Amino acid sequence: MQDCVFCLISNKKIPSEIVYEDDELIAFKDNNPEAPVHILIIPKKHIPSLMELNDCDMHLMPKIFDTARKLAREFKIDKSGFRLVCNCGKDGGQSVGHMHFHLLGGRAFKWPPG
Ligand code: AMP
Ligand code: ZN
Repeated sequence: MQDCVFCLISNKKIPSEIVYEDDELIAFKDNNPEAPVHILIIPKKHIPSLMELNDCDMHLMPKIFDTARKLAREFKIDKSGFRLVCNCGKDGGQSVGHMHFHLLGGRAFKWPPG
């Protein structure tokens, strides 16, 4: 998708602070962080949201969760705790239409979310 900001990041057309990459996933620092650690984990493939994830892409989910665990260890939030968040659609607060997971840590979060 030519006009998708996260496709542009995964294709290295616009700069980002990449913290992990493999053949199917890329993770980079959120440029408007809500916590000391705020990393976005995305599939390189343009999947608009969790609801558009089809059966042949389902294998990405355990990869995303395992990448979150690895990054939590690397950024030293594995012991203190963290949130892994996927905002989906309008009411979920999704602002970028390319499926992504927020890894947030380094401070305590409230519940329920606002
Ligand atoms: P969401 O509201 O769940 O769709 O989250 C989108 C996130 O993408 C927000 O936290 C933004 O700060 C972040 N974001 C948007 N553009 C960029 C960018 N170019 N580089 C890094 N993070 C971005
Ligand atoms: Zn995209």
